[in-house]
Amino acid sequence: MDNGVLEEVDRLKALRDVVARVWGYEELRPLQAEAMLAGLEGRDALVVLATGGGKSLCYQAPALLREGLTVVLSPLISLMQDQIAGLAESGVQAAMLTSAQESAEKREVFQRLRSRALKLLFVSPERFIVPGFIEELAQLGLGALVVDEAHCISHWGHDFRPEYRRIGELRTLLPEVPIQAFTATATPQVRDDIVRQLGLRAPELLVGSFDRPNLTYRFLPREDEAEQVLSVIRRHPGEAGIVYCLRRTDVDDLAPKLASAGIRCLPYHAGLSAETRQRNQERFLSEEIEVIVATVAFGMGIDRPDVRFVVHAAMPKGVEQFAQETGRAGRDGAPSECVMLYSGSDYHGWRNLQERSHAEARAQGVEIDPLEAQRSLERLSEMYGFATNAICRHRFLVSHFGQEWSHAEGCGACDVCLGELRSLADAQRVAQMILSCVVRCEQRYGAAHIADVLRGASSERIRAAGHDRLSTFGLLRDKHPREIRHWIEQLVGLEHLRTAPGQYPTLSLTRTGVEVMKGQRELALFELPVPPRGKRSALPRTVTTRRTHLTYEPDGSTAARTAVTSDGAEIELTVDAALFERLRNLRRRLARERGVPPYLIFGDRTLQELAALRPTSLDDLRGIRGIGETKRADLGPLFVAEIAAHRA
Ligand code: ADP
Ligand code: ZN
Repeated sequence: MDNGVLEEVDRLKALRDVVARVWGYEELRPLQAEAMLAGLEGRDALVVLATGGGKSLCYQAPALLREGLTVVLSPLISLMQDQIAGLAESGVQAAMLTSAQESAEKREVFQRLRSRALKLLFVSPERFIVPGFIEELAQLGLGALVVDEAHCISHWGHDFRPEYRRIGELRTLLPEVPIQAFTATATPQVRDDIVRQLGLRAPELLVGSFDRPNLTYRFLPREDEAEQVLSVIRRHPGEAGIVYCLRRTDVDDLAPKLASAGIRCLPYHAGLSAETRQRNQERFLSEEIEVIVATVAFGMGIDRPDVRFVVHAAMPKGVEQFAQETGRAGRDGAPSECVMLYSGSDYHGWRNLQERSHAEARAQGVEIDPLEAQRSLERLSEMYGFATNAICRHRFLVSHFGQEWSHAEGCGACDVCLGELRSLADAQRVAQMILSCVVRCEQRYGAAHIADVLRGASSERIRAAGHDRLSTFGLLRDKHPREIRHWIEQLVGLEHLRTAPGQYPTLSLTRTGVEVMKGQRELALFELPVPPRGKRSALPRTVTTRRTHLTYEPDGSTAARTAVTSDGAEIELTVDAALFERLRNLRRRLARERGVPPYLIFGDRTLQELAALRPTSLDDLRGIRGIGETKRADLGPLFVAEIAAHRA
């Protein structure tokens, strides 16, 4: 075997060993091995992995094996603190430097750096560009630079940060230090920008799948908002979730309604004081409350991995935003649900908001790029089309981000593929009735009026307009107005109807709408969806394991058995739900004592394995996912004792 290959095998083994020993993970996720190898071999790389893909491990593990210091640039102090606290729980010493620190604190970090006690240093970008800092790092023996959330360097990204721009100076000052950039943002424009701005040299480009197979997507027309949101929350008793609203006032309106229905929830938006926001966020992270009701101001820097559901009470203004916000669910890879409520009024709401803000800007002499204004309207229409059309949600998202969707059979994790949407049997006829009604009303009325005419409502407005004498009056008499509105929205989403901008969103036909009306074009429409009912915990009730030696009790019987699956075959075990709850309580207690969020103690998956395997000795903890050596020694005795107490 060629020497290079041999070394690569050794390096991979060393990486796997350190991941198993420190983090307790036996397997690597897709592209983690490639990213780690690039890091260890000192090659530049750009790694694009979806949220929850496990980017941090890709740079943390090589940092422990490499000679010299690894510096990680990260845009948010809270993210850095979280990582440092998490590493500390696993026995890895790391520190951070930001511009906000006291000088005593900074001095202490430098001392630890000089004594080579640290392998990983997190640095905020504005600290990084302080003159002379890079030279200081060089003296300490900088082994690699990692740029996390690297899309912040790009104007095209969604959180551009000017300080990021100057990170590229490292390349000129220390050309030999390899740079690895990480992001979840996928667009080619942003990618190219990252490579250029950082001056990456022949970077290894590692792009993972953007699909999030553990997320189940459901879109529902909004009817009774609070009731619909509650029904999602009730499907997830005791589990964490985020409810996104469009405006602050919507948050202030919805949060008390949920609270009075017995949901432990708190609001979060930019109108609350910084202290209140901080406190509410902390109470969510520490599992004191389950649900946060928020505007999009909530989310950046939230790393809680066990968010089991995200509800959009209204449609976001673009597919990117939708993907980003729903992406906060299920970072730990366990099944999670994303439900979006939408209505045509969201579409108009966003459009009016944009018009208003442009008008304000113009009044202040700011020029609005008409092309950009046009693009944001297109993004809004695209989102509305996504909401109202019945195509597989996973497929749509993956293709939106420019990847092929290869599953012919459907995803099995969206309302469309799960068969929750029934197609309307006489869609063609219904569409023709609606479209011709719009024409007969001279394309001067909005959806509510058209629906009223079609269902034959006898209102003053209709009589005054003489619309009770139209041939389309009462054609859909047997249908509920909600249904008619739902079909009209689908026709808008399919771009057979368009709505006028401004205060009165009147409906008119597009070219394809005329074709549908004349029967020259086919289409499909869907009935109002019926959401699933009942309580259903998203967390699986069984776990599979490949451990070689383990003592376990199958199905809660008292006889412990030893299974030897030396071939690494999987065995499926039932999670003891009562024990799981008990271990969660222990985790919460320990987290409070240590002043860290519970998920840094153990993830849900680890608790599930513990609640299925019911290990009785520290030895039995070996190989359980998420239990590395430090945690086994430090937390192991407490958890084993709790399990023993549960059996007694
Ligand atoms: P990202 O930054 O890509 O969104 P994270 O680095 O936060 O993702 O990782 C998401 C979760 O997955 C974390 O809880 C992390 O500990 C876990 N994780 C990462 N790699 C693995 C692995 N190989 N096996 C099991 N869990 C992993
Ligand atoms: Zn699907």
